[in-house]
Amino acid sequence: MDVVVVGGGQAGLATAFYLRRAGLTYVVLDEHRVPGGAWHHAWSSMRLFSPAEYSSLPGWRMPPSTGGNPDADHVVDYLAEYERRYEIPVERPVAVHSVSRVAGGFLVEGMNQRTGEHVTHRAGAVVSATGTWSRPFVPAYPGRASFLGRQCHSSHYTSPSSYEGHRVMVVGGANSGAQIAADLAPVAEVCWCTLDELAFLPDEVDGRELFRIASARVRGDEGAGGVAGLGDIVVVPPVRDARDAGLLVRHEMPERFTRAGAVWADGTTLEFDDILWCTGFRPALRHLDGLDLPREGAHVATDGPRVVSEPGLYLVGYGDWTGAASATLIGVGQWARAAVDDIVAHLDHGAVSDRGDTARP
Ligand SMILES: Cc1cc2nc3c(=O)[nH]c(=O)nc-3n(C[C@H](O)[C@H](O)[C@H](O)COP(=O)(O)OP(=O)(O)OC[C@H]3O[C@@H](n4cnc5c(N)ncnc54)[C@H](O)[C@@H]3O)c2cc1C
Repeated sequence: MDVVVVGGGQAGLATAFYLRRAGLTYVVLDEHRVPGGAWHHAWSSMRLFSPAEYSSLPGWRMPPSTGGNPDADHVVDYLAEYERRYEIPVERPVAVHSVSRVAGGFLVEGMNQRTGEHVTHRAGAVVSATGTWSRPFVPAYPGRASFLGRQCHSSHYTSPSSYEGHRVMVVGGANSGAQIAADLAPVAEVCWCTLDELAFLPDEVDGRELFRIASARVRGDEGAGGVAGLGDIVVVPPVRDARDAGLLVRHEMPERFTRAGAVWADGTTLEFDDILWCTGFRPALRHLDGLDLPREGAHVATDGPRVVSEPGLYLVGYGDWTGAASATLIGVGQWARAAVDDIVAHLDHGAVSDRGDTARP
């Protein structure tokens, strides 16, 4: 086979779209039981930053949503239909645990989570599109482990129902922190703690403008930055409402945590029932550990989606370090296409691939 794609979320599907168009043989291995990737784990009030028509994968526009920007269920339905529409061969639920170099390409090994069967594929190229959801990040803080209340990462937050009447510390000054603080504020006593001052985008700016800025930067037009930084908080309606009601007040991070709460540098002590960590994610790349890929700073060294040290290996959709706006629905397509263009050249230049063992899409 020509290509194995690891991960069947939006990045894996966008890659599959271009692989199909290029006439390559491929399979997508996805650990989830059902289509939709990380969108299954979004909290119930989450809405996209942009309208449906600005949230589409290549080839087929996301159908319009009712009542504002699409919610996560709308995205899941779209991704499931996208898979059907382009007859993308996804094997589920297959968790890939290793990718190794073999003559002519790579050996990809995993396990079918339902049957326990060992799954192996050989391919001339591998695209990793495993996202970040399975690797939530919680920073080390003094005393954090001693806190006796509940601690939860945003990856497992679903709704405010189990927080009613609680004193909740929400940690993190990016979009998930803002949206979850806004979600909780009407029913809980929220103390929103962030490392830096809050940076809200102007109210009228949404994901469309962020995509425009990211695209301009890809073209090398640094002056097109316009209104703000790409990581600033998008003022979606629930965030705007909570902010305007005075419910979103920022506090500095405490100096340390205690069994009952936290202590600040000026001696202030507060007690909490819960801490909600909205502190981001790391790329889910453990299946590549055996390749011992060289790093550049915090990440594997890449040039766009191409892994610099390993011809035939690509990382799609992990964030700006694998391509500007690549972690968004509208932005991932251009990087999926770049990866597939590169794969076509790579396979044409002598890598051996076994084209006999998979149906050509
Ligand atoms: C508050 C918030 C708002 C957001 N708003 C937007 C928005 O408006 N627009 C937008 O485009 N994005 C938005 N996002 C980002 C979006 O949710 C993610 O970036 C996106 O889901 C990433 O897609 P992906 O395909 O890279 O990864 P995922 O969706 O995580 O898919 C990865 C897939 O790979 C599978 N997988 C992982 N490891 C393995 C393995 N070892 N073997 C096999 N399979 C594996 C997983 O099961 C999963 O199905 C938002 C995120 C947050 C937190």
